[in-house]
Amino acid sequence: MSTAESHVCPVCDWVCEVPHLAAWQRARCPRCAHRITRGGGRTHAGTVALSLAGLILLGLSVSFDFLSFDVQGRGHTIALLDAGTVLLDQAFLFLGLLVLATTVFLPGLYLAGALYLSLALARDRPLPGSMTVSRWLSPIEPWMMSDVFIVGILVSLIKIVTMANVVLEPAFYTFCAYSVVMLAVTGRFHPADYWQRFVPAGRWAARLRPGASAAAQDCAFCRACGLTFAAANRHACPRCRHRLPAPAHLRLQRTWALLLAAAVLLLPANFLPIMATVSLGYTTPATIIGGVVHMVETGSWPIAVIIFVASIVVPMAKIGMLGWLCLKLQTGRPAARLGDLRVYRLTEIIGRWSMIDIFVVAVLTALIQAGQYMAVAPGPAAASFAAVVLLTMLAAQSLDPLLIAERHENHTAT
Ligand SMILES: [Zn+2]
Ligand SMILES: [Zn+2]
Repeated sequence: MSTAESHVCPVCDWVCEVPHLAAWQRARCPRCAHRITRGGGRTHAGTVALSLAGLILLGLSVSFDFLSFDVQGRGHTIALLDAGTVLLDQAFLFLGLLVLATTVFLPGLYLAGALYLSLALARDRPLPGSMTVSRWLSPIEPWMMSDVFIVGILVSLIKIVTMANVVLEPAFYTFCAYSVVMLAVTGRFHPADYWQRFVPAGRWAARLRPGASAAAQDCAFCRACGLTFAAANRHACPRCRHRLPAPAHLRLQRTWALLLAAAVLLLPANFLPIMATVSLGYTTPATIIGGVVHMVETGSWPIAVIIFVASIVVPMAKIGMLGWLCLKLQTGRPAARLGDLRVYRLTEIIGRWSMIDIFVVAVLTALIQAGQYMAVAPGPAAASFAAVVLLTMLAAQSLDPLLIAERHENHTAT
């Protein structure tokens, strides 16, 4: 990220000079307030230990019993992976793979990669294949959702606590510990550290003057490895081969397409049943809003609010906010301001929390299986709703904050 004493903000592209930071100090961008660098205080050996602890906790979480359920003497115990495999068994392929990927496989892959690269940094010697590993870690990060999954489990438990006896088994606690360790690892480990240590910027590095954006100085900043280089005639970073963002008009087209697909899928997601409950032989389908109303009627206000906000307000607000930003960029109105960057960041942060409802469906489907007496199955809206969450996340990634920052700059310059 640095060129001598200069740093480039990965969100708004602003070049600023940062003095030497003491341990645990952080520097924020003067233009958009995003954190751009931090002082020392974290050792690579510490990251090795944390990643290893995370992998061991994940191993324990998938090996032991996770939750058990009992109603009138009928019940069973599930393992963590059952939340995804039960969906696969019921032919909900997309949902099952999504749950398994976001809670177990991608976080596990990230931890293994972080362990491998931190080991290389701690030993001060590159390891075979570590460049390939470092290329793949940053794209995985937004899709790791173990923290959202825990909230989904808690919501599921509150939903059924009056109907059945549910016991939290040992793997539930190791999974919670694993999620905390995961947050600690993502907070302290950056794949760019690897490139900066083992592949010096050397001839590629461009010297930038602070107080202007890198783009205004005909340079590009690589978010994967932190290199700032002359952008002329380049489509990828010369150091790590990370592709530079596509031209603005293509990014806007892609974002529009993803947003429109998400908006269309909102209809089946909201009007079809997301879950069906079998109780004493009777099947009761429930839509998202039907579930919220039921929660209000049974007095579970906090859960009703969580589901209403995460499943109805957030997806619609996200599509609305991204559409509004696209419209501003498309029409070139001078209203594009740095406040828009904050709106964009908000859409990025809140989007993943909509997965709560999908995790609730997955956990309840795996857990509540007592034949005709009581059982839960996913409804047709579940896949549409999961697709809405994925498409809006992809739309936010495709829009790219640099586009907003560039537009702001063009208007400031004219
Ligand atoms: Zn900034
Ligand atoms: Zn790079």
